[in-house]
Amino acid sequence: MIIHSIDYHHYHVPFRVPFTTSHGPVQYREGTIIRVRTDDGLTGYGESAPLPAFGTGSPEALRDVIEHLTEFLVGKPIELASMLIVASTHARRDAPVRFAFDTAFLDIDAQKNGVSMSKLISPDAVEEVPVNATISDMDTERAASAASYAAMVGFQAIKMKVGVLGETSLEVERVAAVREAIGPGVALRLDVNGVWTIERAIEMARALEPYQIDYLEQPLPAGYIGALGDLRKQINIPIAADETATDIDTVQELIDHEAVDAIVIKPGIIGGLSPSRELFDLASDNGIRVVVTTAIETGIAITAALHLAATLPQPVSPCGLATGTLLETDLLVESSPIEGGMMKVPTGPGIGVTPVESIWQD
Ligand SMILES: [Mg+2]
Repeated sequence: MIIHSIDYHHYHVPFRVPFTTSHGPVQYREGTIIRVRTDDGLTGYGESAPLPAFGTGSPEALRDVIEHLTEFLVGKPIELASMLIVASTHARRDAPVRFAFDTAFLDIDAQKNGVSMSKLISPDAVEEVPVNATISDMDTERAASAASYAAMVGFQAIKMKVGVLGETSLEVERVAAVREAIGPGVALRLDVNGVWTIERAIEMARALEPYQIDYLEQPLPAGYIGALGDLRKQINIPIAADETATDIDTVQELIDHEAVDAIVIKPGIIGGLSPSRELFDLASDNGIRVVVTTAIETGIAITAALHLAATLPQPVSPCGLATGTLLETDLLVESSPIEGGMMKVPTGPGIGVTPVESIWQD
């Protein structure tokens, strides 16, 4: 199959409510949707949304990479284009760009084979994936009431950011209120986004121990793998790595240091669904839980991550895919429904979702 044309749409989409992590509030996400058309009439979609805090290039830099690749790939067979993309991009920096093209090419390949993207990757793929609710409100009372609502509608896991309020008593009070609101049966995950020192992490983990934490995500900065192993031995809360778990070598290092109980996989940061599968096979083979999440992109990237999550070993741990509503729009004609904490995987051929037509009109 020959690439007949590639279109792109750069977007700037605000959060409904500023999204606060331990690095401060974020107002919007920037990225690019690509549309690849082949000479035999198939269309594939992909998305690149950089996260420089995870080591990718800036949105401006990756826009340039996409525009350059677009010119260069038209007229080439898809197999050759895939090889040229890997050869002409830089590992971590350009990972979201590789993810975009990998998604578009898989979308086309799956359509050609008459199956969904997840079934193309694995015939055993499931048709719905448990997802966690994300509680982004910083106010204790509002966070508790949002969490209570999420538990009531059936979410089996709640995730919230910590390391945001500074004082230990405020952080613990907010976590305690959320635990109280959701009751004992719902998993509660806390994400630090790598801002604690080991001393602070030990202090906080001991204070948070009574609240039955499913895992503490990225308590230390990304490069601190040995220290993470030391921390894990000193606390009684499971540890997950996110910012650290970005390639096969670091996942192997996490295993060697017995540093984690779980890893978080963001295909947009790892550079596509196939490299993500290598990471999760390695982790699963070593008894480490795998959670697939978005990088808070719009709907094309969310759906690609959903197809990947559908191929995880069973039972699937709740994944961080219910992030579409954090943004003002997911740019899709129709999003994958979430009911009772389960997200439905599109079953039609390919990725199974379409961006709104209006994005191609500028
Ligand atoms: Mg995280």
